[in-house]
Amino acid sequence: VPVPALPLRAPGGAVEIPVLGLGTWQARGAEAYDAVRTALDLGFRHVDTATMYANERDVGRALADSGVDRDELFVTTKLPPDRAGQEAATLEASLRALGLEHVDLWLVHWPPQGRARPETWERFVEAQQAGRTRAIGVSNYSAGQIDELAAATGVTPAIDQIPWSPRDYDPAVVDALRSRSVVLEGYSPFKRTPMSDATLVAVAHAHGVTPQQVVLRWHVQHGFVVIPKSVTPARIAQNADVFGFALTDAEMAALDGLGQTRR
Ligand code: NDP
Repeated sequence: VPVPALPLRAPGGAVEIPVLGLGTWQARGAEAYDAVRTALDLGFRHVDTATMYANERDVGRALADSGVDRDELFVTTKLPPDRAGQEAATLEASLRALGLEHVDLWLVHWPPQGRARPETWERFVEAQQAGRTRAIGVSNYSAGQIDELAAATGVTPAIDQIPWSPRDYDPAVVDALRSRSVVLEGYSPFKRTPMSDATLVAVAHAHGVTPQQVVLRWHVQHGFVVIPKSVTPARIAQNADVFGFALTDAEMAALDGLGQTRR
């Protein structure tokens, strides 16, 4: 089953982001290369990396060796917090390491302090205008920080990549992003909710799938983007296989409820 995509705001028309991507934090060298090759073989087309992950060269080699057309790939990288003021040079270094002419999404990895926040965002808008990235977004930003960028530049981030799984579920966060047409991209999906949670395990049993697959399915059914990381071929295959079953409304509500209990 091909991975569905969501539209991301971009000048000159929406850019489509596949709702499921491969996370690559803590994967390096041959491990990162092999994970990306495996994921592309299994149908993944979206890969999430960052300058901070120190694996862009390995990811880039895997993309090139895969033989998958550039137009079919969706590649995200991120500006580290300590590179505010060196935005353009940092993106050029990422592109060189990745072996790409452009990335599909460039994110500010964490909000810089004070005035650097809108200034960095101005550089992101320029990079997009220069064609070095198709879409621009942020990570670990609040709705207020997103509004600050929009007010300063007239350009709202296309996406906010945040820690997100059933235990994080908060309808106020969902509404805040949706009302600004900012796509919610969830990271660390398996670390934020205990995979032994009784509700999660019961739903997994009911569908004959793993708790990890239920968490990914929950994201997709809510309209979130999600980027599970694995370097284990059998797990990468499992994580790709979340489009052949659907959670009921009651199951979705029970999983949403894991967020409410924590609050
Ligand atoms: P994840 O929630 O994706 O969990 C990864 C862990 O789960 C690994 O130990 C992996 O093991 C294991 N795992 C993966 N799939 C399965 C499975 N099907 N069954 C059992 N275990 C499984 O954590 P991450 O923190 O890596 O988050 C995902 C991605 O999000 C990152 O890789 C990165 O790209 C991004 N991220 C972004 C951040 C930001 O600040 N913007 C911060 C943190 C993450 P193994 O690999 O050994 O198979």
